[in-house]
Amino acid sequence: MIPYVYHASYSELALPPNHRFPTTKYQDLYEYLLESKFAKAEQFHFPDPICSEELFAIHDPNYVKELINGTLDSKMMRHIGFPWSKGLIRRTLHSIAGTRLTASLALEHGCALHLSGGYHHSHYDFGSGFCLFNDLIFAATEMQKKYGLATVLIFDCDVHQGDGTASLGQNHEGIVTCSLHCGKNFPARKMHSDYDIELEKETPNLPYLETVSQTFEYLIRLHQPDLIIYDAGVDVHKDDDLGYLNICDDGIYQRDTNIFSIAKHNDIPVAAVIGGGYSRNRPELVNRHYQLFKAANHVFS
Ligand SMILES: [Zn+2]
Repeated sequence: MIPYVYHASYSELALPPNHRFPTTKYQDLYEYLLESKFAKAEQFHFPDPICSEELFAIHDPNYVKELINGTLDSKMMRHIGFPWSKGLIRRTLHSIAGTRLTASLALEHGCALHLSGGYHHSHYDFGSGFCLFNDLIFAATEMQKKYGLATVLIFDCDVHQGDGTASLGQNHEGIVTCSLHCGKNFPARKMHSDYDIELEKETPNLPYLETVSQTFEYLIRLHQPDLIIYDAGVDVHKDDDLGYLNICDDGIYQRDTNIFSIAKHNDIPVAAVIGGGYSRNRPELVNRHYQLFKAANHVFS
């Protein structure tokens, strides 16, 4: 049984009306999965929140303290894109813990999936694009410390560049960062990942799938990672509100199936997070994230 990681706090966030962050998608996905043939209640793991001090290992302690206490500069809060609230901090500390738990379950079981995560626009001392703290880098460094892993590959297929992951990754030995994203999209100022693949606007399924698989196989051959953290953002979808690629539901399913098959074939554990997805049509959005779970079950069950 593939372990899934979820917490109710992910969807407990009060936002102004018409805010574009799809707060309810986490709970919707959880419920959708429980009704599907790909999830049983006992498959789910529920993380305890991290202590905020644990974040000092990857973030500026002042930034962490100010954000946790609600005293961060209002301009910096606007850059993140959320109004400060206790619920925001609570869900964030659970989400960061969730990605770490997913990584450790992946090491134990070969594959684990997180119904949140992918906060890749979070930098050392500032956040942006709905990302407060960087769960991907945090989980990678925690797994290195706990299990002595030499190399962790963060493979980011969200449609936006993982700029925070790129810059933070440079501070840590043994983390290889790769971002495949639409070149003309947020963030305007790109950072340098170890590998950046910029895709043209309107890239359709076939060249996209080839690029993803070839890049992934190449990086595995070259770096032989001990763990893969995979950001399976679905904002690559043709109908996403914030993406410009031309990928359909089946393209997402194929992408994720290829990733899992290649990881399994190479016997490398893979921890996946759902990443971005911003359609206002909630059932369609949930079905897009569901493709990740379908793909993992196809490959690992
Ligand atoms: Zn995104």
